[in-house]
Formats: sequence, structure tokens, C-alpha cells
Amino acid sequence: MRLSRAHITTLREVPGEAEIPSHIWLLRAGMIRKTVSGVYGFMTLGLRVVRKIERIVREEMDAAGAQEIITSPVQPAELWHESGRWQVYGPELWRLKDRHGREFCLGPTAEEVFTDIVRSEITSYRQLPLNLYQIQTKYRDEARPRYGLMRSREFVMKDAYSFDRDEAGLDVSYAHMREAYTKIFTRCGLTFRPVAADSGAIGGNASEEFTALCEYGESDVAYCDVCDMAATTERAETPDAAPSGEEMQPLREVATPGAKTIDEVAAFLDIPKEKTLKALLFEIYEDKEDYPVSEYIAVFIRGDRELNEVKLRNALGGVAEHLIAFADEEKLGARTGAVGGFTGPVGLRDCRIIIDSEVPGLKNLCAGANKRDAHMLNVNYGRDYEADITADLKLVRAGDPCPVCGAPLKIARGIEVGQVFKLGTKYSESMGAVYKDENQEDRLIVMGCYGIGVTRTMAAVVEQNHDDKGPIWPVSVAPYHVIITLVKPDDPVQAALAEKLYAELESRGVETMLDDRDERPGVKFNDADIFGIPLRLTVGKKAGEGVVEYKLRRGGEVVEMSAEEAVCAATKLVEEER
Ligand code: ATP
Ligand code: MG
Repeated sequence: MRLSRAHITTLREVPGEAEIPSHIWLLRAGMIRKTVSGVYGFMTLGLRVVRKIERIVREEMDAAGAQEIITSPVQPAELWHESGRWQVYGPELWRLKDRHGREFCLGPTAEEVFTDIVRSEITSYRQLPLNLYQIQTKYRDEARPRYGLMRSREFVMKDAYSFDRDEAGLDVSYAHMREAYTKIFTRCGLTFRPVAADSGAIGGNASEEFTALCEYGESDVAYCDVCDMAATTERAETPDAAPSGEEMQPLREVATPGAKTIDEVAAFLDIPKEKTLKALLFEIYEDKEDYPVSEYIAVFIRGDRELNEVKLRNALGGVAEHLIAFADEEKLGARTGAVGGFTGPVGLRDCRIIIDSEVPGLKNLCAGANKRDAHMLNVNYGRDYEADITADLKLVRAGDPCPVCGAPLKIARGIEVGQVFKLGTKYSESMGAVYKDENQEDRLIVMGCYGIGVTRTMAAVVEQNHDDKGPIWPVSVAPYHVIITLVKPDDPVQAALAEKLYAELESRGVETMLDDRDERPGVKFNDADIFGIPLRLTVGKKAGEGVVEYKLRRGGEVVEMSAEEAVCAATKLVEEER
């Protein structure tokens, strides 16, 4: 490509909304362009990167035996009603109506559509196993679209669905996908780690996320250096505190004027936070947010712990994220007797009580007295109150013991670039996807699903590969492999050598940009950096001797060599790293 003819618009200034390197550099390099919040267009160079990632994904999916199809992002509501997700998915689901009032959504994922295809086209065990995938635009009306391609409302996803006769078959399909993902992210040049994950709104029972480790990720991963445990903090566990051997002491009320938070109470009474019980109050809505509150929930955990809301929603039987919120304390108080800042489990009425699994083993805790400016001492589970649900609700923190080996856990940030799920029969059951086995008996198809955020992967690659001048694309996903910087386009000797180099590289399959613009060399060098092209060849003063400068974008020194040597070196680089 000749830059003099290319439609590429770089930006000098960092756009106001861009906070993280990938967002900044993709905008500044003119690779993406915002249409509205969370919706981007891909320009010349950006689209080439997307296509490269897609190609890697496609090659590895095909190699793993999956078959590519493509379905429409327009999905009828009926399918979502069948699976029960029309309601569960909440406001993230981008809903629309046609002129007849029929409801649709723009697909955020496609379990229903694929299950529908398979239930009508698969009849016999002979047709299984099957793995179908697509690389398609997805829509999610995210509450907080941000960070450019990382959390957008429209994005490219590869989604695959496996269909097996039984769980053992699913295990094999899942293992193949997991392996393909490892190859894909490795080829994209990412440093990543598969971690155990919560299965969220998609459902099912076993799941892992592939997390690209980096500073600005939105996912936290708890991991152990001693054993191999790694899990998202949504899912990670830490053992309960050992049960206390203390004798139960008599329940007693104490005045705690103005001491509302755990810190304030512990300081006021001069007790460790571990001896307090923290209350968190929620309300659950009937159908949508702003609908009548259907019930109140009081959650109690040890005072020094944090609540994991994903675990809470799971413990409540899978309450959708948009149907639960912190309670309006006044309204909740009127019904349950709770008093904001002084809520305890003793004497609460008309609300469900959910406690963390370690709470029953803790003795003589301090909890709110459900009276202004008062707490209770020596609160004990069983004697003083009971719970409706007891479940692990702890959010793990750095230093908490590893659930496998007990060593202190560490927390790392990352970007979830892909996720693999064992769905089991969740969708085949609700949507009636069956096959006939050898004995002509109907059996449910066992499913798995596997997503990769293609455009999010592009952002993750930049997060892990950039410097203060721009992105540094790995050869495998770079928009072009080589940029020839022609210092003086009006110098016939330089121009001739650059053209020769350009033709030679292209003929060898090295994707090359020729910067033949009438610009100052400084501008050209800056642009080569901002485009992030892995190799720059500069044709300048020594063109007469057939000598060019060779410089790798990643920290490389400038080396002089003959044009022939440069062609060989470039070809080799591309062959090795493509
Ligand atoms: P998150 O927890 O980040 O919201 P998710 O777990 O809901 O993501 P999945 O349903 O697992 O996402 O979707 C598969 C993949 O699609 C994710 O692993 C991620 O790479 C990508 N993805 C999901 N949401 C977005 C988004 N809003 N913008 C860009 N990519 C996304
Ligand atoms: Mg996910």
C-alpha cells in the first residue's frame, strides 16, 4: 500500500474519552473511529488487524474440527422466551420491534439460535458430535461502555457451540476448544492464563476464562504461586475461618452512639473486626428495575470480609444482576425492623437472611441491635437467630489462603479475551433439542459453548504491546509487516530503490506499506511508530550505494544493510512469526 494514496487519519491529540493505552493508540493511529458511545467503525489499518485475528481464529477452529456458519444478529424473542433468558438477560439485551410489533433482539450471544438449528436438523446419534461456530457482530447494551474496544456495545465475537451425545463427549469437545484457544491466543502474541470462572447468565456448570494479564483489565484473577490454582475473583474461594472453640456468652446490648461502620464499631468497642458481623441489605425486584420490590434480603458476613455479589446471586438461585440492588434503608427498615448502620440478624422480620458459610462457626460476635446507636454483643448463630441460606459469599483478597494448598493468594488484573463453558443440557432441555440413540430412544443433546472477543483481543494485544510512541504489533496480527520510509520521494535514486524494495517484498508475500508521501522524515518516522508496523526499512542518503536502514519497532537498533539483505531479513522475520 502506498501511503500517498491511503485513507489513514492519525490524531495528534489524545481524545478526551480515551484513558487506557489501547483506546488511545487505536484512535490516534486512526485504526478505529467512534460512531457513538461503545460503537466503533474500523478504518483501513484497524480492519486489517481484525481480519488477521479472525484468520487465526478461523484456522485454529477449523483445525479443531469446528465448522463455520453465519447466523443473523437479528434474533426473534420467541427463542429467548423458550430458554427463559428474555427476562434474565435484562437491559443489556438490545431489544427491538418490527412494524407489526413482533419483538426481536440483536444477539449478544447465540445459544438459542444454534440450539434451534440443531434441534431441527439433528435427528440421529450418527450426526454427533458436531461443533458449529461463527465470527459475527454482537450487541450488548452495556451499562458502562468504556475503554474503546474493550467494553463496547457492538463488537466482533467468535462463538462456537458443541453438540455431543453425552457428558464424556462434551469433555472431549471442551478439551479441543480449550487447546484451540491456547493456540489462538499464543499466535496473537498474548500473555494469558486460563482461569476457573463463574458461568454467569449463560448458565451451565463448568467454565474457564482466558485472561490476558495487564494493568487495565476489568477482571481480577486470584492465583496461587505454590500450586496451580487460578480463578476469577467472581468464582475464587478461600477456606472458612476455623470454628471458634469459645463458650457462648450471654447476649447483651451496648450503646454505640454514632458508630455505624465496622471500622467505627470495632474502634469504639475496641474489638477486632473479625469479632463483628457485617450486614448488607438488598432488595429484589419482580421483573425489572423500578418494578415493585418483591423481597428484602439481609446478608451477614464476618466484619473484615467483603461480599462477593456473584456468589450471593448464585446462592439466591441465580437472580439476574439487574433484578437486585442495595435496599432503600428506610423502606426496608419499615418492613423488617432494620435500622441503617445498626442492622443485626437478631429480631429481623419479613426478610430472608443469608449468611456466609463461616458465620455459624464464629462465636460471640458483635452485630447491630436494630436500634439506633446500639449493638448487640455475643451474638451466636443457632441460639440467637437462624438463616434461610448459608453459602460461601466471600470475596477473596490478596493474602487469603489458597483453597487448594493454603498458601497466600495473589490477585492480578486481566482482560477476559475468551471463555469456554460446559453447558450440559440447559438449552437442549428448555428448547427440546434431542437425538435418537442406537435404540431409537430420545436423548438430550449435551452442549458446550465457547466465545472469543475478537475486537477485545485486538485491544488486549495493544495493552500488552505498546510503548510511549504507539502500539507494537506482533507480526501475526500487524496490519502490515514492513513499512518502507522513503526519506525524499523527489530524489530519483531513493525513489527507485524504494520501489524496487517494495515490489520485491510484496512478491515474497511480505505485506508492505510504502511511505512515499511528501512529508518531513520526522513525521514519517512518527507515523511508522504510531502504526506499530513491526519492521521499518528506511531508504535515504545511502540509496546510491544500495544501502537501507533496518529497524525493528520493538526496541530495535538501526542497522545498515544492503537492500537485498533487508529483503531476506524481512522475509525471514515474517516467515518465522506470521
Ligand atoms: P464481561 O464479563 O467482560 O462482560 P462476558 O463474560 O459477559 O464478558 P461472554 O458472554 O463470555 O462475555 O462473551 C464472550 C467473549 O466476548 C468475552 O470473553 C469477551 O472477550 C467478549 N466480550 C464480551 N462482552 C464484550 C464487550 N462488551 N465488548 C467487547 N468484547 C466483549
Ligand atoms: Mg465471559
